[in-house]
Amino acid sequence: MYNKIQKKIIAYILAFFFLLSIIIPVSSEKTRELKNVITNISDDVVSLIEKVNESLISYYLEKLVSYAPRFTGTENCRQSAKYIFDEFKALELDVSYHNWKSSQYSSQNIVATLNRDDASHDSVIILCAHYDTTETSPGANDDGSGIATLLAIANILSEFSFKNIIRFVAFSGEEIGTYGSHFYARDCYDAGDNIIAVLNIDTVGFTTDAGEQSLYLLKTDRSQWISLMAFEICKDYNQYLDINIKPIANRRNDHQSFLEYGFNSVQFVQLERGDYPLHTPNDTIDKINYSYLSKVVKLVLILGYKISNMEFDTRVILTSPKEGFLYIFNNPIFHLPGFNIRGTGLRGMTYLIGNTIADVKISTNENINSVAFCLDGHSAFSGFLEKPPYEWKIEKPFWTILPLLGKHTLSVFVTTESGIVAYDEMDIFILSFI
Ligand SMILES: [Zn+2]
Repeated sequence: MYNKIQKKIIAYILAFFFLLSIIIPVSSEKTRELKNVITNISDDVVSLIEKVNESLISYYLEKLVSYAPRFTGTENCRQSAKYIFDEFKALELDVSYHNWKSSQYSSQNIVATLNRDDASHDSVIILCAHYDTTETSPGANDDGSGIATLLAIANILSEFSFKNIIRFVAFSGEEIGTYGSHFYARDCYDAGDNIIAVLNIDTVGFTTDAGEQSLYLLKTDRSQWISLMAFEICKDYNQYLDINIKPIANRRNDHQSFLEYGFNSVQFVQLERGDYPLHTPNDTIDKINYSYLSKVVKLVLILGYKISNMEFDTRVILTSPKEGFLYIFNNPIFHLPGFNIRGTGLRGMTYLIGNTIADVKISTNENINSVAFCLDGHSAFSGFLEKPPYEWKIEKPFWTILPLLGKHTLSVFVTTESGIVAYDEMDIFILSFI
């Protein structure tokens, strides 16, 4: 008969198939479900894709690059801002300047709004890129390619109207420390804008042969759903797009500014940099690969179009503590200037000293089943609430004896009657021993 080892192997094989039989139907059902919810090939989308052409993109890119370089604060930068403003205006969008000032620079972003079907919807989707360059670069690729993408998409979508508000925003100050986007995200946060998604496009006009069918999508956990939608679009419309996204967990550039204020943001970046001369006088228009750039324009166009028509019935926002403030025993003392250390996420950080209460604003048409607060993904039982008030004294999980000093993620999950889960999170820095 069988020896001990053989018996063990047989047992493992049986257990494996048993597990497989449980997992397979569940996961394939889930995939099917997901597919039905967020994708279907539609004629509307195909007709939008067909409107994208290389001459439309090159028209905008060549005009922008005629102002070169566009270093923040210079006359060229102002001229190119006016050029972008005028192009949006020609499309009959509502256009305005958003002025900003740091200790060293003052400049302006351009904000162009496409109106929606129904004034009762206040959800906003932002498509953005930066128009400034380093001191010597014409910035054809970085980030002329992003600005040309915005203008081409605005041109195509300006003929339609949508459920949600679409804002096209062109930033300055990126190359000197992402100032334009930082001040813009901060002002949106202070104004309580209901921003559901931010799609930032930075440097998408060049590829080596190896990268022709790929595009990086930078995201974090909170913007995972946008990345998933982009992934599905690439799959379903593959015959039109011929590009796939490579999602990576990363936060940098203007995309980072929105994450710092708690908004769902992703950034598109070309996959293959090769030896492309970014930030030099050689970032010129002759190096732009228009066939690749057109693929990116098509993808961002469809993604923007789909999000612009989505319903966001259940939403939760952490209203207290407020982003970017210093709190002492639950009192917001002042708005911190922010420490701009690239990639650290410390700008927009909220600092807490002493006990602080987390509070939320929930909007939904349904009954709420529960609201759960947690720190660093660990659900603390004290943060699980089944009835109002939905607020929670921020405290460490009961099994930890270590004090909560340092950086943490505060999150909240709202579950409604029908099982919808809404989510929000923010980074907090605890400065006392709680
Ligand atoms: Zn850039």
